[in-house]
Amino acid sequence: MTSQEIRAQFLDFFKGKEHKIVPSAPMVIKDDPTLMFTNAGMNQFKEFFLGNTQSKVKRVADTQKCLRVSGKHNDLEEVGKDTYHHTMFEMLGNWSFGDYFKKEAIAWAWELLTAVYKIDKASLYVSVFEGSDDADNLEMDKEAFDLWKSIVPADRIIMGNKDDNFWEMGDQGPCGPCSEIHVDLRTKEEKTKTPGASLVNQDHPEVVEIWNLVFMQYNRKADGSLENLPEKHVDTGMGFERLCMALQGVKSNYDTDIFKPLIREIEIITGQKYGKDEETDIAIRVVADHIRAVAFSIADGQLPSNTGAGYVIRRILRRAIRYGFTFLDIKKPFIYRLAKVLSETMGQAFPELREQRQLIENVMKEEESSFLSTLEQGLVLLNSVIKSSKNNTIEGEKAFELYDTFGFPIDLTALILEEKGYELDVEGFEKALKAQKDRSRSASEVSKSDWNILMKDAEQEFIGYDSLEAHVKLVKYRKV
Ligand code: ATP
Ligand code: MG
Ligand code: MG
Ligand code: MG
Repeated sequence: MTSQEIRAQFLDFFKGKEHKIVPSAPMVIKDDPTLMFTNAGMNQFKEFFLGNTQSKVKRVADTQKCLRVSGKHNDLEEVGKDTYHHTMFEMLGNWSFGDYFKKEAIAWAWELLTAVYKIDKASLYVSVFEGSDDADNLEMDKEAFDLWKSIVPADRIIMGNKDDNFWEMGDQGPCGPCSEIHVDLRTKEEKTKTPGASLVNQDHPEVVEIWNLVFMQYNRKADGSLENLPEKHVDTGMGFERLCMALQGVKSNYDTDIFKPLIREIEIITGQKYGKDEETDIAIRVVADHIRAVAFSIADGQLPSNTGAGYVIRRILRRAIRYGFTFLDIKKPFIYRLAKVLSETMGQAFPELREQRQLIENVMKEEESSFLSTLEQGLVLLNSVIKSSKNNTIEGEKAFELYDTFGFPIDLTALILEEKGYELDVEGFEKALKAQKDRSRSASEVSKSDWNILMKDAEQEFIGYDSLEAHVKLVKYRKV
Protein backbone atom coordinates (compact mmCIF):
# COMPACT_ATOMS: atom_id res chain seq x y z
CA MET A 1 0.00 0.00 0.00
CA THR A 2 1.40 3.42 -0.87
CA SER A 3 1.50 6.22 1.67
CA GLN A 4 -1.09 8.11 -0.40
CA GLU A 5 -3.46 5.14 -0.08
CA ILE A 6 -2.76 4.76 3.63
CA ARG A 7 -3.60 8.41 4.27
CA ALA A 8 -6.75 8.21 2.13
CA GLN A 9 -7.93 5.06 3.90
CA PHE A 10 -7.61 6.69 7.28
CA LEU A 11 -9.74 9.64 6.22
CA ASP A 12 -12.28 7.41 4.43
CA PHE A 13 -12.63 5.20 7.48
CA PHE A 14 -13.55 8.11 9.73
CA LYS A 15 -15.72 9.69 7.06
CA GLY A 16 -17.64 6.41 7.21
CA LYS A 17 -18.06 7.00 10.95
CA GLU A 18 -19.65 10.39 10.29
CA HIS A 19 -16.54 12.50 10.77
CA LYS A 20 -16.05 15.69 8.82
CA ILE A 21 -12.66 15.70 7.08
CA VAL A 22 -10.96 19.05 7.63
CA PRO A 23 -7.70 20.48 6.25
CA SER A 24 -4.48 20.58 8.25
CA ALA A 25 -3.97 23.82 10.16
CA PRO A 26 -0.73 25.67 9.33
CA MET A 27 2.40 24.23 10.92
CA VAL A 28 3.56 27.71 11.91
CA ILE A 29 1.22 29.33 14.42
CA LYS A 30 0.81 33.08 14.21
CA ASP A 31 -1.87 33.94 16.74
CA ASP A 32 -1.05 31.95 19.89
CA PRO A 33 1.57 33.39 22.26
CA THR A 34 1.90 30.02 24.04
CA LEU A 35 2.87 27.98 20.97
CA MET A 36 5.15 28.70 17.99
CA PHE A 37 4.46 25.57 15.96
CA THR A 38 1.67 23.06 15.77
CA ASN A 39 2.95 20.05 17.71
CA ALA A 40 -0.18 17.87 17.63
CA GLY A 41 -3.39 17.49 15.69
CA MET A 42 -5.45 18.87 18.54
CA ASN A 43 -3.86 22.34 18.61
CA GLN A 44 -6.29 23.84 16.14
CA PHE A 45 -9.20 22.57 18.23
CA LYS A 46 -7.94 23.83 21.58
CA GLU A 47 -10.74 26.35 21.99
CA PHE A 48 -13.37 23.64 21.51
CA PHE A 49 -11.81 21.51 24.22
CA LEU A 50 -11.68 24.44 26.59
CA GLY A 51 -15.33 25.14 25.91
CA ASN A 52 -14.58 28.71 24.76
CA THR A 53 -16.08 28.07 21.32
CA GLN A 54 -18.57 25.52 20.09
CA SER A 55 -17.69 23.41 17.07
CA LYS A 56 -20.37 23.24 14.38
CA VAL A 57 -19.69 19.55 13.99
CA LYS A 58 -19.10 17.02 16.75
CA ARG A 59 -16.72 14.70 14.89
CA VAL A 60 -13.75 15.60 12.71
CA ALA A 61 -10.69 13.85 11.28
CA ASP A 62 -7.64 15.07 9.39
CA THR A 63 -3.92 14.81 8.83
CA GLN A 64 -1.99 17.56 10.56
CA LYS A 65 1.48 18.96 9.77
CA CYS A 66 3.37 18.98 13.08
CA LEU A 67 6.79 20.20 14.19
CA ARG A 68 8.42 19.07 17.44
CA VAL A 69 11.58 21.07 17.95
CA SER A 70 10.84 23.28 20.91
CA GLY A 71 9.01 23.43 24.19
CA LYS A 72 7.47 20.41 25.86
CA HIS A 73 7.68 18.27 22.74
CA ASN A 74 11.23 18.60 21.47
CA ASP A 75 12.53 15.63 19.49
CA LEU A 76 15.33 17.40 17.63
CA GLU A 77 18.13 15.49 19.29
CA GLU A 78 16.72 12.09 18.36
CA VAL A 79 16.15 12.97 14.73
CA GLY A 80 18.46 11.11 12.39
CA LYS A 81 19.97 9.17 15.25
CA ASP A 82 16.83 7.08 15.55
CA THR A 83 14.58 5.98 12.71
CA TYR A 84 11.15 7.03 13.98
CA HIS A 85 11.29 10.59 15.38
CA HIS A 86 11.09 13.46 12.94
CA THR A 87 11.15 17.20 13.30
CA MET A 88 8.21 17.63 10.91
CA PHE A 89 5.73 14.79 10.65
CA GLU A 90 2.10 14.15 9.82
CA MET A 91 -0.28 13.28 12.59
CA LEU A 92 -3.48 11.54 11.57
CA GLY A 93 -6.28 12.19 13.99
CA ASN A 94 -9.94 11.80 14.81
CA TRP A 95 -11.84 13.91 17.34
CA SER A 96 -15.01 13.93 19.30
CA PHE A 97 -16.09 17.27 20.73
CA GLY A 98 -18.38 16.27 23.57
CA ASP A 99 -19.75 13.41 21.48
CA TYR A 100 -18.40 9.81 21.60
CA PHE A 101 -15.85 8.86 24.27
CA LYS A 102 -13.58 5.95 25.19
CA LYS A 103 -15.76 3.08 23.98
CA GLU A 104 -15.99 4.17 20.35
CA ALA A 105 -12.48 5.63 20.20
CA ILE A 106 -10.96 2.34 21.29
CA ALA A 107 -13.20 0.11 19.18
CA TRP A 108 -12.66 2.15 16.01
CA ALA A 109 -8.90 2.39 16.42
CA TRP A 110 -8.76 -1.38 16.76
CA GLU A 111 -11.08 -1.91 13.79
CA LEU A 112 -9.04 0.38 11.54
CA LEU A 113 -5.69 -1.17 12.43
CA THR A 114 -6.71 -4.82 12.34
CA ALA A 115 -9.68 -5.07 9.94
CA VAL A 116 -8.89 -2.31 7.43
CA TYR A 117 -5.09 -2.09 7.51
CA LYS A 118 -4.86 -5.75 8.51
CA ILE A 119 -2.04 -5.40 11.00
CA ASP A 120 -1.46 -8.73 12.73
CA LYS A 121 -3.25 -8.54 16.10
CA ALA A 122 -0.42 -10.51 17.68
CA SER A 123 2.00 -7.66 16.98
CA LEU A 124 -0.01 -4.99 18.82
CA TYR A 125 0.22 -3.83 22.43
CA VAL A 126 -1.91 -1.25 24.18
CA SER A 127 -1.29 0.87 27.26
CA VAL A 128 -3.51 2.34 29.94
CA PHE A 129 -2.91 5.12 32.49
CA GLU A 130 -2.05 3.62 35.89
CA GLY A 131 -2.90 6.71 37.93
CA SER A 132 -0.58 9.00 39.91
CA ASP A 133 0.04 9.64 43.58
CA ASP A 134 1.59 13.08 43.04
CA ALA A 135 -0.18 16.41 43.56
CA ASP A 136 -2.73 15.55 40.87
CA ASN A 137 -3.64 12.34 42.70
CA LEU A 138 -5.33 10.67 39.73
CA GLU A 139 -6.99 7.28 39.62
CA MET A 140 -6.10 4.57 37.15
CA ASP A 141 -8.12 4.60 33.92
CA LYS A 142 -10.28 1.59 34.73
CA GLU A 143 -12.79 2.38 32.03
CA ALA A 144 -10.15 2.15 29.29
CA PHE A 145 -8.65 -0.95 30.90
CA ASP A 146 -11.99 -2.79 30.88
CA LEU A 147 -12.68 -1.80 27.29
CA TRP A 148 -9.30 -3.10 26.13
CA LYS A 149 -9.74 -6.29 28.15
CA SER A 150 -12.73 -7.18 26.04
CA ILE A 151 -10.58 -6.87 22.89
CA VAL A 152 -7.04 -8.05 23.68
CA PRO A 153 -5.50 -10.60 26.06
CA ALA A 154 -4.55 -9.07 29.41
CA ASP A 155 -0.81 -9.64 28.84
CA ARG A 156 -0.98 -7.19 25.93
CA ILE A 157 -2.24 -4.37 28.12
CA ILE A 158 0.56 -2.36 29.70
CA MET A 159 0.05 0.00 32.59
CA GLY A 160 1.77 3.30 31.96
CA ASN A 161 2.80 6.25 34.11
CA LYS A 162 2.22 9.94 33.62
CA ASP A 163 5.14 10.39 31.26
CA ASP A 164 3.66 8.02 28.71
CA ASN A 165 -0.04 7.84 29.49
CA PHE A 166 -1.14 11.29 30.46
CA TRP A 167 -1.17 13.69 27.55
CA GLU A 168 -0.62 17.40 28.00
CA MET A 169 -0.28 19.90 25.23
CA GLY A 170 1.97 22.19 27.24
CA ASP A 171 2.29 23.55 30.76
CA GLN A 172 -1.30 24.71 30.53
CA GLY A 173 -4.36 23.66 28.61
CA PRO A 174 -6.51 20.62 27.97
CA CYS A 175 -5.14 17.23 29.02
CA GLY A 176 -6.16 13.77 30.11
CA PRO A 177 -5.27 10.10 30.43
CA CYS A 178 -4.48 8.22 27.26
CA SER A 179 -4.24 4.76 25.80
CA GLU A 180 -1.52 4.15 23.29
CA ILE A 181 -1.14 1.48 20.66
CA HIS A 182 2.32 0.07 19.97
CA VAL A 183 3.45 -2.22 17.19
CA ASP A 184 6.16 -4.87 17.39
CA LEU A 185 7.92 -5.15 14.03
CA ARG A 186 10.58 -7.65 15.07
CA THR A 187 11.06 -11.06 13.48
CA LYS A 188 9.28 -14.13 14.90
CA GLU A 189 12.55 -15.38 16.28
CA GLU A 190 13.31 -12.14 18.12
CA LYS A 191 9.77 -12.09 19.47
CA THR A 192 10.16 -15.49 21.07
CA LYS A 193 13.42 -14.45 22.69
CA THR A 194 12.14 -11.24 24.33
CA PRO A 195 8.46 -10.55 24.98
CA GLY A 196 7.27 -7.41 23.19
CA ALA A 197 5.49 -6.13 26.31
CA SER A 198 8.85 -5.58 28.01
CA LEU A 199 10.04 -3.40 25.11
CA VAL A 200 7.10 -1.01 24.92
CA ASN A 201 8.19 2.59 25.62
CA GLN A 202 11.83 1.48 25.95
CA ASP A 203 13.11 3.36 22.87
CA HIS A 204 13.32 0.13 20.91
CA PRO A 205 13.47 0.99 17.17
CA GLU A 206 11.21 -1.91 16.20
CA VAL A 207 8.70 -1.77 19.04
CA VAL A 208 7.20 1.66 18.48
CA GLU A 209 4.22 3.68 19.52
CA ILE A 210 1.95 4.39 16.59
CA TRP A 211 -1.29 5.82 17.96
CA ASN A 212 -2.25 7.79 21.00
CA LEU A 213 -5.90 7.95 22.06
CA VAL A 214 -6.29 10.84 24.48
CA PHE A 215 -9.35 11.16 26.62
CA MET A 216 -9.59 14.87 27.33
CA GLN A 217 -11.27 15.51 30.57
CA TYR A 218 -9.15 18.11 32.36
CA ASN A 219 -7.73 21.56 31.87
CA ARG A 220 -4.40 22.37 33.52
CA LYS A 221 -4.59 25.88 34.92
CA ALA A 222 -1.78 28.42 35.17
CA ASP A 223 -1.24 27.55 38.85
CA GLY A 224 -0.64 23.90 37.88
CA SER A 225 -3.91 22.52 39.24
CA LEU A 226 -6.41 20.48 37.21
CA GLU A 227 -10.04 21.32 36.68
CA ASN A 228 -12.65 19.21 34.93
CA LEU A 229 -13.50 20.31 31.42
CA PRO A 230 -17.15 21.19 30.90
CA GLU A 231 -17.48 18.24 28.49
CA LYS A 232 -15.44 15.11 27.72
CA HIS A 233 -13.68 14.80 24.39
CA VAL A 234 -11.60 12.40 22.34
CA ASP A 235 -8.36 13.49 20.74
CA THR A 236 -6.29 10.94 18.86
CA GLY A 237 -2.97 11.22 17.07
CA MET A 238 -1.31 8.60 14.91
CA GLY A 239 2.17 9.05 13.46
CA PHE A 240 1.63 8.73 9.72
CA GLU A 241 5.24 7.87 8.87
CA ARG A 242 5.31 5.16 11.57
CA LEU A 243 2.01 3.72 10.35
CA CYS A 244 3.44 3.57 6.82
CA MET A 245 6.51 1.80 8.18
CA ALA A 246 4.31 -0.85 9.81
CA LEU A 247 2.13 -1.31 6.72
CA GLN A 248 4.93 -1.32 4.17
CA GLY A 249 6.82 -4.08 5.96
CA VAL A 250 9.93 -2.01 6.68
CA LYS A 251 11.73 -1.27 9.93
CA SER A 252 12.53 2.40 9.59
CA ASN A 253 10.39 5.39 8.64
CA TYR A 254 13.17 6.28 6.21
CA ASP A 255 12.55 3.06 4.26
CA THR A 256 8.95 4.01 3.43
CA ASP A 257 7.90 5.58 0.13
CA ILE A 258 7.66 8.91 2.00
CA PHE A 259 11.42 9.15 2.48
CA LYS A 260 12.93 6.80 -0.09
CA PRO A 261 12.75 9.25 -3.03
CA LEU A 262 14.41 11.95 -0.89
CA ILE A 263 17.17 9.59 0.19
CA ARG A 264 17.70 8.43 -3.40
CA GLU A 265 18.08 12.06 -4.46
CA ILE A 266 20.55 12.76 -1.66
CA GLU A 267 22.55 9.71 -2.80
CA ILE A 268 22.61 11.01 -6.37
CA ILE A 269 23.63 14.53 -5.39
CA THR A 270 26.27 13.55 -2.85
CA GLY A 271 27.54 10.31 -4.38
CA GLN A 272 27.14 8.67 -0.95
CA LYS A 273 25.32 5.40 -0.34
CA TYR A 274 22.64 4.98 2.32
CA GLY A 275 22.88 1.88 4.53
CA LYS A 276 26.65 1.36 4.53
CA ASP A 277 27.98 3.45 7.38
CA GLU A 278 26.17 4.69 10.47
CA GLU A 279 27.71 8.17 10.50
CA THR A 280 26.79 8.78 6.86
CA ASP A 281 23.34 7.30 7.42
CA ILE A 282 22.61 9.67 10.28
CA ALA A 283 23.62 12.63 8.14
CA ILE A 284 21.43 11.43 5.25
CA ARG A 285 18.48 10.95 7.59
CA VAL A 286 18.99 14.39 9.13
CA VAL A 287 19.00 16.05 5.71
CA ALA A 288 15.97 14.04 4.49
CA ASP A 289 14.12 15.00 7.65
CA HIS A 290 15.13 18.65 7.93
CA ILE A 291 14.28 19.57 4.33
CA ARG A 292 10.68 18.74 5.18
CA ALA A 293 10.58 20.96 8.26
CA VAL A 294 12.15 23.88 6.42
CA ALA A 295 10.13 23.49 3.20
CA PHE A 296 6.81 23.21 5.03
CA SER A 297 7.67 26.21 7.12
CA ILE A 298 8.53 28.38 4.10
CA ALA A 299 5.38 27.16 2.35
CA ASP A 300 3.48 28.39 5.42
CA GLY A 301 5.08 31.79 4.97
CA GLN A 302 7.66 31.49 7.76
CA LEU A 303 11.09 32.22 6.32
CA PRO A 304 14.35 31.61 8.19
CA SER A 305 15.30 34.70 10.18
CA ASN A 306 17.05 35.89 13.30
CA THR A 307 14.07 35.94 15.60
CA GLY A 308 11.30 33.75 16.97
CA ALA A 309 9.96 30.96 14.77
CA GLY A 310 12.19 32.09 11.90
CA TYR A 311 15.26 31.44 14.02
CA VAL A 312 14.06 27.96 14.91
CA ILE A 313 13.79 27.22 11.19
CA ARG A 314 17.20 28.75 10.52
CA ARG A 315 18.72 26.55 13.24
CA ILE A 316 17.18 23.43 11.69
CA LEU A 317 18.48 24.29 8.25
CA ARG A 318 21.96 25.16 9.53
CA ARG A 319 22.04 21.87 11.39
CA ALA A 320 21.32 20.04 8.13
CA ILE A 321 23.86 22.11 6.20
CA ARG A 322 26.58 21.25 8.68
CA TYR A 323 25.72 17.53 8.61
CA GLY A 324 26.01 17.67 4.81
CA PHE A 325 29.27 19.61 4.96
CA THR A 326 31.01 17.41 7.52
CA PHE A 327 29.63 13.94 6.87
CA LEU A 328 28.47 13.97 3.23
CA ASP A 329 31.34 16.09 2.04
CA ILE A 330 29.21 18.60 0.17
CA LYS A 331 30.63 22.08 0.20
CA LYS A 332 28.00 23.88 -1.87
CA PRO A 333 24.25 24.43 -1.56
CA PHE A 334 22.36 21.20 -2.24
CA ILE A 335 19.50 20.78 0.20
CA TYR A 336 17.31 23.19 -1.79
CA ARG A 337 17.51 20.73 -4.70
CA LEU A 338 15.41 18.26 -2.69
CA ALA A 339 12.39 20.56 -2.79
CA LYS A 340 11.49 19.17 -6.22
CA VAL A 341 11.31 15.55 -5.01
CA LEU A 342 9.45 16.64 -1.89
CA SER A 343 6.82 18.48 -3.89
CA GLU A 344 6.42 15.41 -6.10
CA THR A 345 5.95 12.97 -3.20
CA MET A 346 3.86 15.19 -0.92
CA GLY A 347 2.43 17.84 -3.21
CA GLN A 348 -0.84 16.06 -3.75
CA ALA A 349 -1.72 16.02 -0.06
CA PHE A 350 -0.13 19.44 0.56
CA PRO A 351 -0.48 21.56 -2.61
CA GLU A 352 1.34 24.47 -0.94
CA LEU A 353 4.58 22.56 -1.58
CA ARG A 354 3.94 22.71 -5.31
CA GLU A 355 2.65 26.26 -5.31
CA GLN A 356 5.57 27.60 -3.26
CA ARG A 357 8.31 25.43 -4.71
CA GLN A 358 10.15 28.29 -6.36
CA LEU A 359 10.14 30.32 -3.18
CA ILE A 360 11.25 27.33 -1.11
CA GLU A 361 14.17 26.69 -3.45
CA ASN A 362 15.25 30.31 -3.65
CA VAL A 363 15.12 30.93 0.08
CA MET A 364 16.90 27.70 0.95
CA LYS A 365 19.60 28.16 -1.65
CA GLU A 366 20.29 31.67 -0.37
CA GLU A 367 20.35 30.47 3.25
CA GLU A 368 22.69 27.63 2.34
CA SER A 369 25.19 29.80 0.47
CA SER A 370 25.19 32.40 3.17
CA PHE A 371 25.91 29.91 5.98
CA LEU A 372 28.41 27.94 3.90
CA SER A 373 30.41 31.12 3.40
CA THR A 374 31.25 31.22 7.12
CA LEU A 375 30.85 27.56 8.13
CA GLU A 376 34.30 26.39 7.13
CA GLN A 377 36.08 29.24 8.88
CA GLY A 378 33.92 28.74 11.95
CA LEU A 379 34.77 25.06 12.07
CA VAL A 380 38.48 25.89 11.78
CA LEU A 381 38.15 28.29 14.70
CA LEU A 382 36.20 25.74 16.75
CA ASN A 383 38.81 23.06 16.09
CA SER A 384 41.62 25.32 17.16
CA VAL A 385 39.73 26.28 20.30
CA ILE A 386 39.24 22.60 21.08
CA LYS A 387 42.91 21.86 20.48
CA SER A 388 44.09 24.59 22.78
CA SER A 389 41.55 23.95 25.51
CA LYS A 390 43.05 22.83 28.79
CA ASN A 391 40.02 21.04 30.10
CA ASN A 392 36.88 19.48 28.67
CA THR A 393 34.86 22.68 28.56
CA ILE A 394 34.84 25.33 25.85
CA GLU A 395 34.55 28.96 26.91
CA GLY A 396 31.23 30.67 26.35
CA GLU A 397 33.03 33.66 24.82
CA LYS A 398 34.23 31.45 21.96
CA ALA A 399 30.77 30.03 21.38
CA PHE A 400 29.51 33.59 21.29
CA GLU A 401 32.09 34.51 18.66
CA LEU A 402 30.94 31.56 16.57
CA TYR A 403 27.37 32.71 16.98
CA ASP A 404 27.97 36.36 16.35
CA THR A 405 30.60 36.28 13.61
CA PHE A 406 30.07 32.93 11.92
CA GLY A 407 26.33 32.43 12.40
CA PHE A 408 26.63 29.23 14.43
CA PRO A 409 23.44 28.69 16.42
CA ILE A 410 24.39 27.77 19.97
CA ASP A 411 22.84 24.32 19.77
CA LEU A 412 24.92 23.58 16.69
CA THR A 413 28.11 24.46 18.53
CA ALA A 414 26.95 22.27 21.43
CA LEU A 415 26.22 19.39 19.05
CA ILE A 416 29.66 19.56 17.42
CA LEU A 417 31.32 19.72 20.82
CA GLU A 418 29.28 16.78 22.03
CA GLU A 419 30.43 14.71 19.04
CA LYS A 420 34.01 15.46 20.01
CA GLY A 421 33.47 14.75 23.70
CA TYR A 422 33.57 18.37 24.87
CA GLU A 423 31.20 20.53 26.84
CA LEU A 424 30.12 24.10 26.45
CA ASP A 425 30.14 26.80 29.10
CA VAL A 426 26.53 27.80 28.56
CA GLU A 427 26.57 30.44 31.27
CA GLY A 428 29.56 32.15 29.70
CA PHE A 429 27.73 32.21 26.39
CA GLU A 430 24.65 33.66 28.03
CA LYS A 431 26.73 36.34 29.68
CA ALA A 432 28.35 37.34 26.40
CA LEU A 433 24.98 37.41 24.69
CA LYS A 434 23.49 39.53 27.42
CA ALA A 435 26.43 41.94 27.26
CA GLN A 436 25.77 42.36 23.56
CA LYS A 437 22.11 42.92 24.24
CA ASP A 438 22.93 45.58 26.83
CA ARG A 439 25.27 47.28 24.39
CA SER A 440 22.57 47.41 21.74
CA ARG A 441 20.10 48.69 24.32
CA SER A 442 22.29 51.57 25.43
CA ALA A 443 23.05 52.34 21.79
CA SER A 444 19.36 52.50 21.04
CA GLU A 445 18.64 54.72 24.03
CA VAL A 446 20.49 57.57 22.45
CA SER A 447 19.02 57.00 19.00
CA LYS A 448 15.84 58.20 17.39
CA SER A 449 12.50 56.41 17.54
CA ASP A 450 13.09 54.39 14.34
CA TRP A 451 15.52 52.32 16.31
CA ASN A 452 12.90 51.15 18.73
CA ILE A 453 11.77 48.64 16.15
CA LEU A 454 15.25 47.19 15.93
CA MET A 455 15.43 47.08 19.70
CA LYS A 456 12.29 45.01 19.79
CA ASP A 457 13.90 42.52 17.42
CA ALA A 458 16.98 42.22 19.60
CA GLU A 459 14.71 41.57 22.55
CA GLN A 460 12.90 38.83 20.69
CA GLU A 461 16.13 37.23 19.68
CA PHE A 462 17.03 36.84 23.30
CA ILE A 463 13.69 35.26 24.08
CA GLY A 464 14.29 32.83 21.23
CA TYR A 465 17.55 31.88 22.81
CA ASP A 466 15.93 31.21 26.17
CA SER A 467 14.13 28.23 24.69
CA LEU A 468 17.42 26.99 23.25
CA GLU A 469 18.99 27.13 26.64
CA ALA A 470 16.93 24.22 27.88
CA HIS A 471 18.08 22.27 24.88
CA VAL A 472 21.76 22.89 25.51
CA LYS A 473 21.39 22.03 29.16
CA LEU A 474 19.83 18.76 28.12
CA VAL A 475 22.90 17.94 26.04
CA LYS A 476 25.10 18.61 29.03
CA TYR A 477 22.91 16.61 31.35
CA ARG A 478 22.92 13.58 29.08
CA LYS A 479 26.67 13.47 28.93
CA VAL A 480 27.13 13.35 32.67
P1 ATP B 1 7.14 9.04 21.40
O1 ATP B 1 6.91 8.44 22.76
O2 ATP B 1 7.49 8.03 20.36
O3 ATP B 1 8.09 10.19 21.45
P2 ATP B 1 4.86 10.65 21.87
O4 ATP B 1 4.23 9.85 22.94
O5 ATP B 1 5.70 11.80 22.25
O6 ATP B 1 5.73 9.66 20.92
P3 ATP B 1 2.30 11.69 21.06
O7 ATP B 1 2.41 13.03 21.63
O8 ATP B 1 1.50 10.67 21.76
O9 ATP B 1 3.78 11.12 20.79
O10 ATP B 1 1.83 11.85 19.53
C1 ATP B 1 0.96 10.97 18.86
C2 ATP B 1 1.69 10.12 17.82
O11 ATP B 1 2.49 10.91 16.95
C3 ATP B 1 2.64 9.11 18.41
O12 ATP B 1 1.96 7.95 18.79
C4 ATP B 1 3.60 8.84 17.26
O13 ATP B 1 3.10 7.85 16.40
C5 ATP B 1 3.62 10.16 16.53
N1 ATP B 1 4.84 10.95 16.82
C6 ATP B 1 5.11 11.62 17.97
N2 ATP B 1 6.28 12.27 17.88
C7 ATP B 1 6.75 12.02 16.64
C8 ATP B 1 7.89 12.44 15.94
N3 ATP B 1 8.79 13.26 16.49
N4 ATP B 1 8.06 12.00 14.67
C9 ATP B 1 7.16 11.18 14.10
N5 ATP B 1 6.05 10.75 14.71
C10 ATP B 1 5.84 11.17 15.96
MG1 MG C 1 7.69 12.07 22.23
MG1 MG D 1 5.14 8.15 23.91
MG1 MG E 1 2.23 9.23 23.04
